[in-house]
Amino acid sequence: MKDTEGYETLAYLTDHIGKRLSGSDSLLKALSWGEETMKKAGFQNVSIQEAKVPHWVRGQEEASIVAPFSKPLHMLGLGMSVGTPTEGITAPVIFIPDLAALANTPEDQIKGKIVVFNPGWHGYGLGSIHRTTGPSRAAAKGAVAVLVRSATGLAMQTPHTGTLTYLPDMPKVPAAAITVEDALLLERLAKEGPVQVHLKMEAHMEADQKAGNVVGEIPGSEHPEQVVVLGGHIDSWDVGQGAMDDGGGIISCFEAVNLIHKLGLKPKRTIRVVFWVNEENGGAGGRAYRDALGDKVKNHVAAIESDGGVERPVGIGYTVMGGGPASGSAARRQAGASANPAAAMAAMAAMGGGAQRALDESKLTPEEKKSWDTIKQIASLLQPIGADSASPAGGGSDIGPIVAAGVPSLSPRTVGEHYFDWHHTEADTLDKVDPEDFRKNIALLGVLSYVLADMDGQLVGHTSAAPVE
Ligand SMILES: [Zn+2]
Repeated sequence: MKDTEGYETLAYLTDHIGKRLSGSDSLLKALSWGEETMKKAGFQNVSIQEAKVPHWVRGQEEASIVAPFSKPLHMLGLGMSVGTPTEGITAPVIFIPDLAALANTPEDQIKGKIVVFNPGWHGYGLGSIHRTTGPSRAAAKGAVAVLVRSATGLAMQTPHTGTLTYLPDMPKVPAAAITVEDALLLERLAKEGPVQVHLKMEAHMEADQKAGNVVGEIPGSEHPEQVVVLGGHIDSWDVGQGAMDDGGGIISCFEAVNLIHKLGLKPKRTIRVVFWVNEENGGAGGRAYRDALGDKVKNHVAAIESDGGVERPVGIGYTVMGGGPASGSAARRQAGASANPAAAMAAMAAMGGGAQRALDESKLTPEEKKSWDTIKQIASLLQPIGADSASPAGGGSDIGPIVAAGVPSLSPRTVGEHYFDWHHTEADTLDKVDPEDFRKNIALLGVLSYVLADMDGQLVGHTSAAPVE
């Protein structure tokens, strides 16, 4: 808790390298810096594990109401969106609250129009499927473009970007996020009478780019072949600084292991830190990591991902039993792509915005019970920093592919008070990271990874979590 180097490292990444979308020069700069930082810290086997990433370019973009009056809209195009024709698209608006309402709206009411979604805020799962699959579903019914309310509970006239996922065999239309305020304005205007919107986006794809995962480790003293892996994603959106998402995640993992190393602690198993690439718009890094392991994936005794922001930690999440998807965007993407939009919405609502599933311990197998008790014991070590709770769901989308192969899935859990206020916006900057909370995250990750790497016995894993698409 006395460490200040972790925050200084994060400050360098955010202030001097900044945002780092897949395909950008700043991502490449971040990868070299990450490799150099691990080497300087004295980590072993430091390398960049190659992964090809998509290269989406935002370009210039704008949207405005043109009737019944003229007014610019606050917007950010969605990642992976196609652009508009050079002259833009001007079309009447139809307001549709959510995917269930879309399914019930006849095609002739949607054809030729710009669909505006505002499902309200009922957690990130429900909000984000309107962003990921809403554009395709609306296009399938004849929409020419889609505007979606930003996936956030905070109205501060700030648009939140994020990826969309074009569904196979459906037309691709341009899509953008608008602010909560503008979505509500369009909803009110559409109730009064005809509304027209103009949308212009230069968004396009360029050739895939060579990038990779930054990997480094401290080798185990007795079982170097057995690995506890921890990390997050080094890429970010092309807005803000990627401080909470996910600079804080990767640097807290790095610093945790850096401290273990500096303290001269030598755990029996290897502790490996990975800065995965391309979580935001593809998941190429998580897949490349899994593919490179082959059969050796069975030597991974635990995978810890920090990708929920570095607010004050409250404890450890561990997916202790099968039956439900782990949290994370991969699971969300998979459920969101389901053929039945109503079912997808229900699945998302059940996942909630970080809501915890209740655990019925009587349903655990003896093996699961033992693992769960181990996690509770490890969590109890974190009582001095108030992070001693254990919760039955933990994971992340970068570790999705190895978790799908049976590796135990964990993540730190935080209070999660403001993460989705800043997520994927210009406001995701270093100042949002509280240094004291950040140190607590480092402490949690240090204790958790060290104990998992040094203890007798192993946790059980579950193969039920959704793999990255
Ligand atoms: Zn993230």
